[in-house]
Amino acid sequence: MTTARRLRIRVRGRVQGVGFRPFVYATAVRLQLTGYVLNDRDGVLIEVQGVQVDALITELRERPPPLARIDAIGSDWIPLIDGESGFAVASSGQGGALHTEIGPDVGVCSDCLRELFDPANRRYRYPFITCTHCGPRFTICARLPYDRPQTSLAGFPLCPDCQREYTDPGNRRFHAESTACAVCGPRLSVDPRKILAQLRQGDIVAIKGIGGYHLACDARNEKAVARLRLRKQREARPLALMVCNLASARVLALVDDVEAALLTSKERPIVVLRARPDNGIAAAVSQELPTLGLMLPYTPIHWLLCHAAAGEPDGLEWLAQPQPLALVMTSANPHGEPLVHTDADARERLAGIADLIVDHDRPILVRCDDSVLRVVDRTPAFIRRARGFVPEPIDLGSDGPCVLGVGAFLKNTVCITRGREAFVSQHVGDLDNPEARRFLGESVAHLQRILDVRLEAVACDWHPDFPSTEFARQSGLPITPVQHHHAHVAAVAAEHGVSGPLLGLALDGYGHGDDGAAWGGELLRVDAAGFERIGHLAPLALPGGDRCARETWRCAAAALHALGRGDEIATRFASEPLAPMLRQLLDRGLAPTTSSAGRWFDAACGMLGLHWHSSYEGQGPMALEALVDDPEALDGAWRIEAGTLDLAPLLAALAEPRLAARSGANRFHGTLIAALADWVKRAATIQDIAVVALSGGCLLNRVLAEGLLTTLRAAGLTPLLPRLLPPNDGAISLGQVAVARKLLRAC
Ligand SMILES: [Zn+2]
Ligand SMILES: [Zn+2]
Repeated sequence: MTTARRLRIRVRGRVQGVGFRPFVYATAVRLQLTGYVLNDRDGVLIEVQGVQVDALITELRERPPPLARIDAIGSDWIPLIDGESGFAVASSGQGGALHTEIGPDVGVCSDCLRELFDPANRRYRYPFITCTHCGPRFTICARLPYDRPQTSLAGFPLCPDCQREYTDPGNRRFHAESTACAVCGPRLSVDPRKILAQLRQGDIVAIKGIGGYHLACDARNEKAVARLRLRKQREARPLALMVCNLASARVLALVDDVEAALLTSKERPIVVLRARPDNGIAAAVSQELPTLGLMLPYTPIHWLLCHAAAGEPDGLEWLAQPQPLALVMTSANPHGEPLVHTDADARERLAGIADLIVDHDRPILVRCDDSVLRVVDRTPAFIRRARGFVPEPIDLGSDGPCVLGVGAFLKNTVCITRGREAFVSQHVGDLDNPEARRFLGESVAHLQRILDVRLEAVACDWHPDFPSTEFARQSGLPITPVQHHHAHVAAVAAEHGVSGPLLGLALDGYGHGDDGAAWGGELLRVDAAGFERIGHLAPLALPGGDRCARETWRCAAAALHALGRGDEIATRFASEPLAPMLRQLLDRGLAPTTSSAGRWFDAACGMLGLHWHSSYEGQGPMALEALVDDPEALDGAWRIEAGTLDLAPLLAALAEPRLAARSGANRFHGTLIAALADWVKRAATIQDIAVVALSGGCLLNRVLAEGLLTTLRAAGLTPLLPRLLPPNDGAISLGQVAVARKLLRAC
């Protein structure tokens, strides 16, 4: 084609505040096209005229700016305009830029990294370097529209040099709302070289990051790590590490191609990897677990620390070479409360923990933890979803009212819908402390402001006493309570776009059932806005109620009792002073019961002598999973009657005297997978449904998740695992809004 034509192009998606207009401008100029580009309420509007208009469309589709997300490109041929010259960035539709969507916080881009380490660049070693392709968004934006006065950069007027870049449509900092330099921008309170020196001498340093403070120390220094654990009172949970680059990560852990892509992605999550033996990392980092949670640098401050540790070499070669630096970088959340994110809070709450507090004067407007993922079935799976991914929307497939989902209790999130999109908040955490309950309110308010929506309804858990349920009641909005496991399954259906009936296998710790009982090992049929409980795990007694989640021997005692072997409780758990009393409690049938899958895991741990007293929920089961090297299914070690799956025979096999923990772990996992698959397959035949949602915190267990996927696929079924959200209660808020919107539509 050699004749000039004119095209009007409409681009929808996340195309504002991501350098889209400079990209179109530069491309159009290069292709010798005339016309204009502008932002408006619907996204980006382009008119181009010239010979190579098709090439522009190709560029848009194939090489958009890194942070753009194009949902749709539409185009129409329009009449040529005579005498047009040049390409312009036109002023926006109404009232300046209208950024309708705010992106997540992402790591430093390669262009900024090059400038950061270029002595000739005016931002050489500037700890807040950023551009339209990188840096913070979600945590620095107060409300829509995303313009500098609405961000935490409002107090930093641009210097003439920055202003020139900001107004130059050919510059990658054109309308980069968070841009700054050493002349006009935020400042770091301590030089990175000094931070490194203190870390090297074994000190604990609190460092202000993107969504809050980290507590850092030298991960190779056993004493420093032990001191950090002691001061933070973070008993036994594994600590995350930061290393300089992929080559350094490979020295410490086994990294396959999927894991490598995840580690180096712009989202920069913590990735749980298999640790290499004798890697020099302090044993106190992961305790008994054979894994390491690793992440790579994502702020300029992290990069400056790495550069200092590498001896401040010239050039960029060091970025690809293994570096010995390994830092513990754990969220500064004393006593399990939410992350510390304000400077005043840091001084008050971290004073007794950190030897040095490093802050800066760019405020964090909303806290946001690091995200944590693991690769399951060669695909990333969330353990915790926060920085880098929030507020990325999930497409619900159709429009509906604006609904808030307030989640449940543990590992909580909230969710707000706008049109056909659902925005799940960052990880809020367990609502067992006032600070977390405050964070719940903050998260709702912040999401509402950055989405610019008015709520029409609220959905909550069935549990009447959860703080989230109370929050829903006080909102003054019409309330839709949604059953816990129904929400789990609905969340998986929503993210996978399943609209028809499906089976749901929900395996978790606890959820309130419609009979008021404790549920947690549920086989549901979910259809439209309703669900039917077609099966559940055989109930297990909970002698001591909530204490069972932290004392695995209690669940094992309950399982023994259920096997008619109550006599063995006192001798088997002889070191437990309460064992005889527990026996009496069970004999008299006074203990509440639960169908929870989590408690069957605990019972297995208790039977095998693992973590009779654990310091956090899931510690025993994680240790159990870590032992598995060759899962083995025991024939006939389960019973299915009237939809109920009973694992008592499996527990009997684990009660064998002198059974090695590793054999027990292999038998438990292998048999559990076979039993669950048998149960699901029978239900699939009876219900004539092939799609099965797998959800609940137990699916964080990779052996279980991969085993179920493989077995169910082999049976011709379509198992679905959560991919956009974690399988645990972090997904409940999405399930709640999905169900509530269907109910509201039905009214
Ligand atoms: Zn950049
Ligand atoms: Zn400046």
